[in-house]
Amino acid sequence: MRGTRLLTASLLGLTLIVAGCAATQDTPAAAQGPCDIAADGASETRSDARQDESDPETATGYRSGMTAVQTRTYAVATANPLATRAACEVLRDGGTAADALVTAQAVLGLVEPQSSGLGGGGFLLYYDAATDSVQAFDGREVAPAAATENYLRWVSDTDRTEPLPDARASGRSIGVPGIVRMLADVHAEHGRTPWRELFSPAVRLADDGFDVSPRLAAAIADAAPRLAADEDAAAYFLNPDGSAKTAQTRLTNPAYAKTLGAIATDPAAFYTGDIARDIVAAVADPSGGRTPGLMTLEDLAGYTAKPRQAVCTPYRGKEICGMPPPSSGGIAVAATLGMLERFPMAQYAPTDVDRDGGRPTVLGVHLISEAERLAYADRDRYVADTDFVPLPGGSPDLLLGSDYLAGRAALISTEKAMGTAEPGAFGPPAAPVAPVPEHGTSHVSVVDAQGNAASLTTTVESAFGSFHMVDGFLLNNQLTDFSAEPAGPDGVPVANRVEPGKRPRSTMAPTLIFTPAGPGTRRELYGVVGSPGGATIIQFVVKTVVGMLDWDLDPQQAVSMVDFGADNSPETNVGGEHPVIDTSDDGGNDPLVRGLRELGHKVDLADQSSGLSAIVRAPGGWIGGADPRREGAVTGDVGGPAS
Ligand code: GLU
Repeated sequence: MRGTRLLTASLLGLTLIVAGCAATQDTPAAAQGPCDIAADGASETRSDARQDESDPETATGYRSGMTAVQTRTYAVATANPLATRAACEVLRDGGTAADALVTAQAVLGLVEPQSSGLGGGGFLLYYDAATDSVQAFDGREVAPAAATENYLRWVSDTDRTEPLPDARASGRSIGVPGIVRMLADVHAEHGRTPWRELFSPAVRLADDGFDVSPRLAAAIADAAPRLAADEDAAAYFLNPDGSAKTAQTRLTNPAYAKTLGAIATDPAAFYTGDIARDIVAAVADPSGGRTPGLMTLEDLAGYTAKPRQAVCTPYRGKEICGMPPPSSGGIAVAATLGMLERFPMAQYAPTDVDRDGGRPTVLGVHLISEAERLAYADRDRYVADTDFVPLPGGSPDLLLGSDYLAGRAALISTEKAMGTAEPGAFGPPAAPVAPVPEHGTSHVSVVDAQGNAASLTTTVESAFGSFHMVDGFLLNNQLTDFSAEPAGPDGVPVANRVEPGKRPRSTMAPTLIFTPAGPGTRRELYGVVGSPGGATIIQFVVKTVVGMLDWDLDPQQAVSMVDFGADNSPETNVGGEHPVIDTSDDGGNDPLVRGLRELGHKVDLADQSSGLSAIVRAPGGWIGGADPRREGAVTGDVGGPAS
């Protein structure tokens, strides 16, 4: 579905209670005390509905004029105010970032089920202040042991037809969910609040009910025909006449409350026993003509979240840490920044900087897009689950080597767009990963009062995942992040092909930024960033990091700034939902669009659906911003004097 969506109403519905009056763009109502959410920036501008069918989740407009939130010792940003507040209260009561993540995820799975939940997976970067260590947690879904390389494209080796109704909505797309196991591992290592207590806010909301937000309502309306094919999903998201439930409808989810209760008692309950049996039955459910998936109880019982080695590289005097494979996010962000470091990016800062981040310059967008093309070319060819397909040289070092990136940067002209980039020549050859559409996801950023931090990107892949609902939650369609084609035209195997027990390549790029140790000073956490957005995540994260580190934007301005960038194609994205972009006459009246076209870029003005958040250190504490394109909010110990 296309068109402007109203996200103002529900946000104000919540924030009015808090702040007592509606904010205008000029006079935002400040939050009053810990965990309040400022009624700020809720004025929505038009969206011209220039969304491509293959874009990530439905674009839902743009809240113009949001201001950054200042906190003193702790802060959290999620994609929904109810989740932000619940997670903040955990921090307020002395919980760690790990504790806050668990509560945030439990609430998000209820109020933003189209984006993430118990039936999905995620990637987390965690900073433990006491030991000054960065850990990467891989809670990615896994292909069942019975999956063959043709699992997504053929019903069987003898029935070579596509799974029904298509790979995504069939049982074949469902990977063994990883988020519960990962959060349990993180909590076991870094939690302070008893695990059980962390589920209470979500259980209460599921039992008492919550109001469907405008964004959720829009997503249900988009997906209604697909949701109708699943009995549980239809009963929950649709009215008895089959119409989509609308914004402000009060939803209760007793099945979800029951599932959370079981997990709260023991996280293993998700992977064994009744819940596991229900999941296996749902994956295999042929009703509505759906092709069953082949997940077993053994697949679930055998799931492990994996510790990974974070990818940390320098940029502008900071250290940027990102997620390694099976996500391509960290490597591609690091490669892009490594190339951009060779250019004086500060000279290409936006002009007319206002609360929405100003007007990006032609050369700024050009250079970043070109570096991204080169980074995506390598990512597309070489990055997959490294437990199956090693990177060139066996580690990220070759793709991120200083000399290599200098050579890549030298391919960038300031006068002409390159169109499509070639990957670096590393043997042995692998076929490029066939592009697959990716959609739907959520990002959580947290810093706690003990100095720990978490950057979690969590997903069911497409909006509502595979549309299979069980025990109050949706099952992912993450396996469609694999290449359905196992080999290229020349027969060379695709690195990201399906294999049993393998994790599909991701783009998720949860990021932590540090100020490195200097003479006599310790390394210090500087900030937390991340976003949903499928394959575009890399572009969203890069523009935010450059916005903050090169262009001195505060986190809200950097997040609000026009979303721009490119994957490895001649098209350059310039988010048409942003109020500074003139989309009339296909951008013919917009100076940025015209300038880019003069350099040879094909400009795509489709609305961008980032869900960024960023929290960075500021005098007196922390300052954070949430994406004006979704319903997210930042809060923490706001109000009162900064210490
Ligand atoms: N499944 C995607 C990935 O892992 C994320 C989808 C999204 O962000 O919308 O990269």
